[in-house]
Amino acid sequence: MAANDRCLFCRIASGEIKAKIVFEDDVVVAFEDINPQAPTHVLVIPRTHISTLDDLDEEEAGIVGMTLVRASQIARNLRLNSEGYRLVVNHGEAAGQTVFHIHFHLLGGRNFGWPPG
Ligand code: AMP
Ligand code: ZN
Repeated sequence: MAANDRCLFCRIASGEIKAKIVFEDDVVVAFEDINPQAPTHVLVIPRTHISTLDDLDEEEAGIVGMTLVRASQIARNLRLNSEGYRLVVNHGEAAGQTVFHIHFHLLGGRNFGWPPG
């Protein structure tokens, strides 16, 4: 899907809106969440604009798979892997999705309750 010039995360991915970038390559961008919910809170997004999980096509499996691979590598680089971390996707209103460009929340540096709130 083409970049959406009204989408906040497309604008961060293009560099138009500044963010604290943690990692980027041709497929993925990762940056610090502006309102962190844990000592580490990084958002890992595909550069491709996909609004929600419900909009995912099978052709995008590679893109989303690579986003997940990068999330795990970032977690390892930040040394979150031994203690544990949480990777979250919110879908839709009930789950609290506020930005409609698929993103993984990578949360670490504290303990997390289960089930989540
Ligand atoms: P969600 O509620 O799952 O859609 O997550 C959206 C996330 O984007 C929230 O955790 C926000 O704090 C975060 N966010 C919103 N605006 C920005 C921004 N300009 N830079 C970084 N993170 C942002
Ligand atoms: Zn977007």
